[in-house]
Amino acid sequence: MTTTILRGGRVADPAAGTEAVADVVIRDGSVLAVSREPVPATDATVVDVSGLVVGPGFVDLHSHVHSIAGQRLQAFDGVTTNLDLEAGLMPLERAYAEAAAAGRVLNYGFSASWTDARGQVLAGLGPTARFDASAGLLGNLDWQRTSSPAELTAWLGLLERELADGALGIGVLMGYAPRSDPAEYLAVARLAATAGAPTFTHVRELVEADPTTPVDGSSEVAVAAAETGAAMHHCHVNSTSRRHVDRVLRTLEQARSAGSRVTVEAYPYSMGSTSVGAFFLAPERLPAWGLTPSSVVMLGTGERVADVRRLAELRELDPGATCVIEFLDERDEADRALLRRALAFPDAIVASDAMPLEWPDHRHDTREWPLPPGASTHPRTAGTFARSLRLMVVEHGVWTWPEAFRRCSYLPARVLDEVAPSMRTKGLLSPGADADLVVLDPETLTDHATVTDPVRPSGGVRHLVVGGTFVIRDGVLDADAYPGRPVRGVPA
Ligand SMILES: [Zn+2]
Repeated sequence: MTTTILRGGRVADPAAGTEAVADVVIRDGSVLAVSREPVPATDATVVDVSGLVVGPGFVDLHSHVHSIAGQRLQAFDGVTTNLDLEAGLMPLERAYAEAAAAGRVLNYGFSASWTDARGQVLAGLGPTARFDASAGLLGNLDWQRTSSPAELTAWLGLLERELADGALGIGVLMGYAPRSDPAEYLAVARLAATAGAPTFTHVRELVEADPTTPVDGSSEVAVAAAETGAAMHHCHVNSTSRRHVDRVLRTLEQARSAGSRVTVEAYPYSMGSTSVGAFFLAPERLPAWGLTPSSVVMLGTGERVADVRRLAELRELDPGATCVIEFLDERDEADRALLRRALAFPDAIVASDAMPLEWPDHRHDTREWPLPPGASTHPRTAGTFARSLRLMVVEHGVWTWPEAFRRCSYLPARVLDEVAPSMRTKGLLSPGADADLVVLDPETLTDHATVTDPVRPSGGVRHLVVGGTFVIRDGVLDADAYPGRPVRGVPA
């Protein structure tokens, strides 16, 4: 196997919190050495990275991208491992088999899907290992209801089987079944604690936005973590908390300082994305979020929803259709500061919530690169990491480079250490670490994706290495590179 030397970059080690000019030596898919003295080039391929920042590739805990095209967009955003842990896929065995058969550019993995387990038991719908099929379930009223004790036992059993098959935890879309009995959520947390697996929750509504919610969504995570000892991850705190983010972060901080295993993630956009049939987009619920129908824009057609009547019609027509929701006003500095506070929260993890790509002919993937025009998705799919680093390192100086890599690579990998021992060599830049690396140009690093041009790749990722193989070299994608490997859990 060949040896590669990344020569003379600014090497950021997030575990040590250091940045130093050094050579990084890669062999057999691992980091062999990090040396502040120049390493002799004997037989090695030498890549000059002087002036560039070298760090462990980003580990995205929250990506609904299950495609080659989507993974390539994320590669240009610095991601080397993309995981769908909030929604998950079911059956897991089939999801892993299909990804392996198609080939993957980045490392990949899935949690057990609470949505599909409920769908099978409460609505009689067999799982298909497809994200769009699960998304279509979200508006289904049978699926949303509280389970009988027998039903609860049945779908917990399905989740348990998926964990035994190597799921990376349990993904819980509680915000889409927000009237279901909180006791069910506790049962899921108990199962996770027993299995030594984390949970990933899209929380139900906050009391501020819906005083009739059976329990405050963020407090529910904190309480379940305290009562069961499970490791519980709060997804996209920016989009579910909106202007209540300071209060929610306080709730999570109290839980952590009391010893609960609560982690949190955020993405740097003022708009969210979901299926138009989601519970919280019912016309009568919008005012609680300070929204109107025109805050909702349909992806694909670009239609800005005109009024309540049209919103109801779209929800009826195709509840699984994807839309964008403008929940903060990016022209307002106070709202922009809210977003930065979510990212700046101690130990908050950056995660994209990347959404599937879809072309007008309903294709979801292609091996063509550059991507054929016309694909729609939320711009966070392509831009989350470059945008976070531009904001937090380059423009506002809140994070150093090692701190940025701690948020984007080190901490997310640690969330999975217990369930998936293979993660213990990711998110690191020291001898023995996996050679999943990103080399960034701090001068040009930025997101380019927008609502009108959502699949424009980020700029500034000069090299991206996955398991020792270059996916991007000198800013150019290697269209023959499929080095992505599965990440799977090991049952407790
Ligand atoms: Zn979500």
